Amino acid sequence: MNPEPISNVQLYSHTARELKQTQRHKILKFIEHNCIEYDQAKKVFICKHIDGYNKTDYTLSKVGGEWTCDCQHYVTAKKHGEENPFCSHLGALFESLKRKHNRRREEAIRMTLENWSEGVVL
Ligand SMILES: [Zn+2]
Repeated sequence: MNPEPISNVQLYSHTARELKQTQRHKILKFIEHNCIEYDQAKKVFICKHIDGYNKTDYTLSKVGGEWTCDCQHYVTAKKHGEENPFCSHLGALFESLKRKHNRRREEAIRMTLENWSEGVVL
């Protein structure tokens, strides 16, 4: 499947519902481009930028049990006292972890079934 043209990515809207869709759209964009990486040395996740779409790589880490991002949206929400602010980068991280987990689970089930069927003596 080909990614959508970059020009279709930014959708502006004044309604909350459409904003939500925009955030979801952004999250899927980051997922589609495999933007989430784990930095072994720093022990943090990175949401890499997409060429032609955005310019900054963001750092995602767990601080005192709370996931944080260093993007302006998150930092501003935090400054205003919001608890557990959510941004598209954290959304992309959670979605990516969820998908990884599901893949592992599917793989484990497949292996179990294979081992099980191989072990069956007719
Ligand atoms: Zn962010």
